[in-house]
Amino acid sequence: MTMNRRSFLKTMGWGGVAMGWPSWLTGCAHAPVRPDGAPEPRPVEALLRDGARTMWCAPHPDDECFSGTLLARSSIYYRNPTFFLILTHGDGGQCCLPEGCEPDLATIRGREMAAVAERYRVELRHEHFFNAPLPVESFPLRHQIYEKWCAQGDPQGLVVAEIRRFKPDLIVTFHPDFGATGHPEHQLAARLVTTGARLAADPAFQVDGGGGPGPAAAGGGRVGPEEPSR
Ligand SMILES: [Zn+2]
Repeated sequence: MTMNRRSFLKTMGWGGVAMGWPSWLTGCAHAPVRPDGAPEPRPVEALLRDGARTMWCAPHPDDECFSGTLLARSSIYYRNPTFFLILTHGDGGQCCLPEGCEPDLATIRGREMAAVAERYRVELRHEHFFNAPLPVESFPLRHQIYEKWCAQGDPQGLVVAEIRRFKPDLIVTFHPDFGATGHPEHQLAARLVTTGARLAADPAFQVDGGGGPGPAAAGGGRVGPEEPSR
């Protein structure tokens, strides 16, 4: 059976949403822990209340829905500086607009993402890395997608450079193993940013390149306020 994106999400169910949150942010079923397994004594709400600079890293425009309440709490309610790093334009997905998606799906989803960033009051960097086309059964394996991304730019260097520039106190992303829906690009983005958090703190790691596939020329790149008004 060919599985489109909607039936894929339906099959995976909303239980995946909780897995989309970092393990150290899940507060109901487990005691909060840091990425290294140490206890996290401060609830996320306390971090946000104290003005945590918040970074969301995901592969697709629309993925912010998975963590929308937390991101809105940071950027809209507390007016914390918040930054979205989105790695693809989702051009492998479906056009769901009755009027069609002209001139192409990447352009439409890029415009939608910019509008979303404006409503969230966040800074956005929107890149153009490869997005695996549907159907789900045809998705390359995670490491194959990473190879494609590395052929297009320097995804790990890009993420490290943005972490060093923005200096987040809190990074929100997918679970590196499950990726909420199982999408390999969700897992890959999560791995890039969790690895990037460690590399960004290592002065021996030099970013060589750190670019994507031509964001400025392709209409991506950076939009929104550098520092949202508080
Ligand atoms: Zn996604």
